[in-house]
Amino acid sequence: MIVCPVCHTENSHLATTCKECRSFVQTKIDTLDLFATVWLLLESPRKAFHRISIARHKNYVIFLSFIHGIAILFFVMWLVRIGDMDVSLPQILGAGFVLGPVLGLIMLLLFAAVQKFIAKTLRLTTRFMNAVAIISYAMIPIALSVIFILPVEILTFGKLFFSTNPSPYLLKPTSYVALLMLDGTTILWSFVLYIYGVRALYDLGVRKALLVSSLTVGVCSALLFSGVSGISTKLSKVAPDKKVRVTVSVMSHENLLRR
Ligand SMILES: [Zn+2]
Repeated sequence: MIVCPVCHTENSHLATTCKECRSFVQTKIDTLDLFATVWLLLESPRKAFHRISIARHKNYVIFLSFIHGIAILFFVMWLVRIGDMDVSLPQILGAGFVLGPVLGLIMLLLFAAVQKFIAKTLRLTTRFMNAVAIISYAMIPIALSVIFILPVEILTFGKLFFSTNPSPYLLKPTSYVALLMLDGTTILWSFVLYIYGVRALYDLGVRKALLVSSLTVGVCSALLFSGVSGISTKLSKVAPDKKVRVTVSVMSHENLLRR
């Protein structure tokens, strides 16, 4: 809530002009600068999300969703162990970088719709584009993982990063665990930012913000994982012989280790 300094009317915390007398109640923000916003997210996530929420144009939101989609698709390919199937590294990279952006945009819209729905059941309202912007900017650490961590994973393990045959853990345990921990950190960091985002967007206390963000992330993860398990069941039906080959070569790999 912002109280107008001129007529003392109570306005929404995101209002830039008073609804009664039209005088300015806080600085108007027209556009968002990507790098300045990323820095502000590091320095003061609360201020950053307030700026994002009141900005008239939510710049870079769609662009960011393309990079998030790449991260999500590579994560899915890691989950289903796509490296065990009859695909090459260029095919994996092609799928990730071409289909990833499409998936990112769909996931962002779905994510925002789920958030709006959950907020609505708690009698909280906002513009759809505000929900979209908070999610997209909160996921910036995940976008950074595409730029800094994914290339290292591909260069270190190649196709084997997505495989159990042999497991990348058996090849280079320290690098593999370290890379996964870095990935995990970016996901956790994004979740913390998202809580800040929800707080700033709906003007909530920590508990309620935690409730809205956990429920939203929970529902979206459940949707993503049920989609993924659907895909992997289909894939295993398409290639039933692959599974046998995988087990055989894992066994021979274990024999190699014993020797
Ligand atoms: Zn006023």
